[in-house]
Amino acid sequence: MSDTTNGHRDSLVRATAADGLIRCMAAVTTGTVAEAARRHGTSGTVTAALGRTLTGALLLGAGQKEFDRLTVQVECDGPVRGITAETNARGRVRGYVREPSADVPLNAQGKFDVGAVVGGGMLYVTYESGFDIGLYREPYRGAVPIVSGEIGEDFAYYLAKSEQIPSAVMLGVLVRAREPGEKFVEAAGGLMIQVMPGADSATVAAVESAVSRTPHTTALIREGARPPDLLRAALGGVPFELLEEREVGFGCTCSYERAASLVSSIGGAELESMLRDDKGAALTCHFCNETYRIDESALAEMVARSRDGAGA
Ligand code: ZN
Repeated sequence: MSDTTNGHRDSLVRATAADGLIRCMAAVTTGTVAEAARRHGTSGTVTAALGRTLTGALLLGAGQKEFDRLTVQVECDGPVRGITAETNARGRVRGYVREPSADVPLNAQGKFDVGAVVGGGMLYVTYESGFDIGLYREPYRGAVPIVSGEIGEDFAYYLAKSEQIPSAVMLGVLVRAREPGEKFVEAAGGLMIQVMPGADSATVAAVESAVSRTPHTTALIREGARPPDLLRAALGGVPFELLEEREVGFGCTCSYERAASLVSSIGGAELESMLRDDKGAALTCHFCNETYRIDESALAEMVARSRDGAGA
């Protein structure tokens, strides 16, 4: 397992241009997407769709100051049926799809047809905050219809419609076969350029023109580009100031303890039948596909505690 591209760990940068009126985020996520694909056993097309969504969530999160958890959900009618990505403010992201093995033929350009595997539906974005300090605030939730299913365009549409931020979003995942039947993520990453109210039209035009001429982010990443290089390519000659660089990666919050506590909370007859009939319990985390097995003796202990609790 490798979480690096050309020896570099995945990372993300945040920058500004035009006196802070243009916010830029760029990320290289090759290892993150490879890990997600390995865990979920996704087809090439689904790897591209999930990888773009994971990268988009990381970039969207980097542009926000206050949240503990950001969830992006693609509820769709294409063969993949649904994609969920969740990130925290520290650059960890996790995600899953409903149908990991779904696939569709390559498109006319010979590329994975992400738009076709996603189809139509809705994109939901939820920001939650306050957990860490015990002040749980009402989550912010935005929703827009899926415009192309290509994910990058859908994030841009969400930003324009729901957050009123005109944005350019480029998300890419390059999956290669080293030998027939084998697939690996060769490059993944993306960038997000957001134009704040008040940016002068000449700068906006310069950025738009540079972005439209940017080569595919994955082509740059494969050649060794790091996040600041992606920004340099996308912004053309427009100068920018780097504010922050952070490591990012696939990370899940599940654990044996959490799985065990969930099983023990079932209690009563159902717990007893798990012990009697199955001699144990197994729980699989949706987000990372890790399976936790509760063995017979641990389960017997839970049953005994549940009986004590019921009798008290
Ligand atoms: Zn997990």
